[in-house]
Amino acid sequence: MTKAGARSGTTAIISLAFILPGLALMSPALASSAGSAATARRSAAASQGSAPADGPCSPGARTLSRYGDHVYPDTGNGGYTSLHTDVRLVYDAITNRFLPGNHVSLTDRAAQCLTQFSLDFERKSLANVSAGPDMKVSKVVVNGHPAAFSFAQPTYPGDPNGVNDPDPRAHEASQNNPVGGPGRNPLPPACSPELKSTSYGKRNSQNGQQCPANKLVITPAAPIGNGADFTVTVNYTGRPGVHTDGDGTTEGWFRSDKPRGDGGFVTTEPVGTEDWMPLNDHPSAKPTYDFDDTVTAGKTVLANGILMSRTEHAPDAEFPGGSVTWRWHQPAPVASYLVEDSVGSYHLTRRIADGIPFYEAQASSLPAALQKKNLAIMNKQPDITKFQSQFNGPYPFTSDGVVVGRPSASFEEEMETMITFSGGEIDTDTLYHENMHQWWGDHVSEANYNLTFFKEGMATLGEFLYAARTAETKAGGPYSRAGQRAFERSLIKQFDATYASKGSFWTLAPSNPTPYGLFDEDPTYARPGVTYVALRQILGATNFTKALQQMQLQYGGGTVTEPELEAAFHEWMPNQSAACSVRLDHFFTEWFDTAYKSGGGARRPQITGPGLAGPGFYAKGGGCVAH
Ligand SMILES: [Zn+2]
Repeated sequence: MTKAGARSGTTAIISLAFILPGLALMSPALASSAGSAATARRSAAASQGSAPADGPCSPGARTLSRYGDHVYPDTGNGGYTSLHTDVRLVYDAITNRFLPGNHVSLTDRAAQCLTQFSLDFERKSLANVSAGPDMKVSKVVVNGHPAAFSFAQPTYPGDPNGVNDPDPRAHEASQNNPVGGPGRNPLPPACSPELKSTSYGKRNSQNGQQCPANKLVITPAAPIGNGADFTVTVNYTGRPGVHTDGDGTTEGWFRSDKPRGDGGFVTTEPVGTEDWMPLNDHPSAKPTYDFDDTVTAGKTVLANGILMSRTEHAPDAEFPGGSVTWRWHQPAPVASYLVEDSVGSYHLTRRIADGIPFYEAQASSLPAALQKKNLAIMNKQPDITKFQSQFNGPYPFTSDGVVVGRPSASFEEEMETMITFSGGEIDTDTLYHENMHQWWGDHVSEANYNLTFFKEGMATLGEFLYAARTAETKAGGPYSRAGQRAFERSLIKQFDATYASKGSFWTLAPSNPTPYGLFDEDPTYARPGVTYVALRQILGATNFTKALQQMQLQYGGGTVTEPELEAAFHEWMPNQSAACSVRLDHFFTEWFDTAYKSGGGARRPQITGPGLAGPGFYAKGGGCVAH
């Protein structure tokens, strides 16, 4: 994610004509083979799901967080693994409503014998009545049989009294652990506040409030056996919307009303996907996706993966002006906050480079001159991808793309294979940032929200590498010694400038954010970004690249924890002595885990790297002195 600066939002609206996408669609044969694979998966799931339960059966956990977690501790659901999701939107863009027939089918694998399990779904926002969701669940079916369902408040993770703890303090929101607040609640928080203000002074003003009932609790007709695959289908209608975060900003399904009745723009970090569909809303839950969305005629659907088909339908009772079904297929796992499914009037084209389709979409109501300017930047994506592959290894997905939407979402986001730019404009530096995320965040995801710094640091490194590349080009290009020197100098300059930061720069530990500070520039972006520059100096450029590529191989399609991240860099240390290993551990503790008193100087990490400002890493002769 990248928070946007002030944007000029005064672009004129030109009269809209739906521009037919200039797309060469995939052949029907390919499309239908993918469809039958999905069908096979579904029928296999249905037969396995009816297997008799073995061993003691119990409800799954209603969170994937651990005791004491205080960054969105309500999200995620245990007792099963998310395998695949079929999204079947039936969406009227004119009224911004999901119509009858709208549903999702989630295929999961039970990790225990389950009598009950849960999903995350904010069907109605209490914090935002106008732009928040207002939806209704009509039916839940598990393996073809109707299931009972209800909505419950979350409970703090690890509550010994269970999810139905009668103590109201077990269900309170807070930025911190313990909750505190007016009731001085000593328990950990059950959820993060939905802040009505973005002001720093008000960040703790809602600590102690009751959490909303956003856990969709499902009781199937019969227990689901341990190890069985099962499919849960949730039918729902109504208005999707945005979630209000622990920092007062919003994300989710942004109504696009330029031109009037345009559709919805989906950009959802960290938790806003549950504001338009029920899911296992945690970054460690990464099912694959198929989208089969029927929407108002003339509208374009943009989702993750590859566009499979587009089918137009004659007018009917629900769509008096006709409708169109778009099918997208993403065979790679997608983390909860990276599910893309925007609908609107878009100009969509596709380019193929190095065998990878790059989708380019922008709101067709944007002025022609702006579209032209945007397109020139979007056209750089294949080259950026190739450049970043030198560091990260091969591009991990079967497609890539960009969508430039009109709503002002106040941030740009690395939606998997379909990067979102809000406010109608794109810029090159941010494209480098978000495209770097395709490897870091998307392919290798953070295991929990407090590790957001890991992937934002990598994306920030992507920006540093862009600046270094620009300097290299000016100095003679990548094959000249002067160019190479300029590249290295640029990275070192970036580190040194950041390391000189004073004031409050070092006062928050990147690995221990609050919901309010989760996307703060200093601890989540800049500090981890230069940490990677220092690691590149410590390991050497070649070994650093090898560490990155090893992580892609080892954790791609899944998640990485902080110990796993650090272990990969340990493995590629040129000096494998115990003293250097200890020093590297201290380095990580200083850079990722320590909150310093304000001021900089002695109050900042005291281990840096060769050639960088600060004390460096190695002793004379290349060895290490234990810290
Ligand atoms: Zn980012």
